[in-house]
Amino acid sequence: MAGFDDATPAYRPETLAVRAGQERSQFGEHAEALYLTSSFVFKSAALAAKRFSGEEEGNVYSRFTNPTVTMFEERLAALEGAEDCVATASGMSAIMALVLAHLKSGDHIVASSGLFGATVQLFSNILARTGIATTFVPQTDPTAWEAAIRPETKLFFLETPSNPLTEIADISALTAAAHARGILVAVDNCFCTPILQRPLELGADLVVHSATKFLDGQGRVLGGAVCGPKRLTEEVFKYLRTAGPTLSAFNAWVLLKGLETLKIRVEAQSANALQLARWLEAHPKVARVFYPGLPSHPQYELAQKQQKGGGAIVSFEVQGAREQAWQVVDHCRLLSITANLGDTKTTITHPASTTHGRIPPEARAAAGIGEGLLRIAVGLEAVEDLQADLARGLSLI
Ligand SMILES: *Cc1c(COP(=O)(O)O)cnc(C)c1O
Repeated sequence: MAGFDDATPAYRPETLAVRAGQERSQFGEHAEALYLTSSFVFKSAALAAKRFSGEEEGNVYSRFTNPTVTMFEERLAALEGAEDCVATASGMSAIMALVLAHLKSGDHIVASSGLFGATVQLFSNILARTGIATTFVPQTDPTAWEAAIRPETKLFFLETPSNPLTEIADISALTAAAHARGILVAVDNCFCTPILQRPLELGADLVVHSATKFLDGQGRVLGGAVCGPKRLTEEVFKYLRTAGPTLSAFNAWVLLKGLETLKIRVEAQSANALQLARWLEAHPKVARVFYPGLPSHPQYELAQKQQKGGGAIVSFEVQGAREQAWQVVDHCRLLSITANLGDTKTTITHPASTTHGRIPPEARAAAGIGEGLLRIAVGLEAVEDLQADLARGLSLI
């Protein structure tokens, strides 16, 4: 029994978020079914052979495909405007799968220097050991990306806005430079989600997600995804079905429910973040605010063009250093002291001593991550309550 008519063109994002990808079983269940099964049975030996050979389409084993996971993949693909999507066990396994599906020993990556910490470790340690080299360049300088290109460069990997300084990469400009040399472009769209930014429409080849963040949105499960044209995702699928970091059916089911509220959550959290960023910018104990939705952001114009909102991540520097920043954190009663982001519950972290703590102090300072910097991932609480929580520590500086 069909669930959703994907052939109907031009459904809007809020409709796709609730409906896309649903496939009903013979029972006609209204909510998406959770298929907790590792394997699937066949009516005969001949049918088993056909399924295994690929002559007949269908599920075989949940490391390859699972109907609940497929529903999540189709829903996210619809939201990203992608032909296809392959779900993975986590955001990191999505990035790993993308790279190992398309690159081999001797190939080279150009990536932004402001990538998620584990992505930097993956590229500079684990992938480097397999013979895939990476050059890190400033996110905001297209000429640096071009200058880093080598004959063996196969991939531009960017994450925009960056964490924690919310630097914006010009997706269209970098894509033009890459495509002129046959280089693939992948964008980690974790911070914006397809609600605020659709990299494929701007020319990017592939989008990766940590579904753990806004796609779930409620801090419950880990997941990831790679979206793009089938000719590129097919290679990712081949890697996954053999290497094994597939998304579990249970997590896919949770993520399907997360996607249903994605648009209203992301828009509300982005609006809250803008309000909080304006308040912080006017606060006498705050030295500087980093938020793409503020006219003071160095790439405000680009953010306005490329994104439908500033997003939910706001970073700011207090007047002072580590002691003053920690004072603000330690006086929070409402904000959660945790490095996770994308949750309905607002979180606060001191990047220099947590997410970016392993980077040598000089390199950290050069990257602009100072001792007075705090990062907030804004949730759905009343902004006035968040302000009161932050004001307590700020007033003591
Ligand atoms: C969290 C995160 C990842 C990694 O995702 P996991 O689901 O934790 O593996 C990758 N990129 C960005 C931008 C992230 O915030």
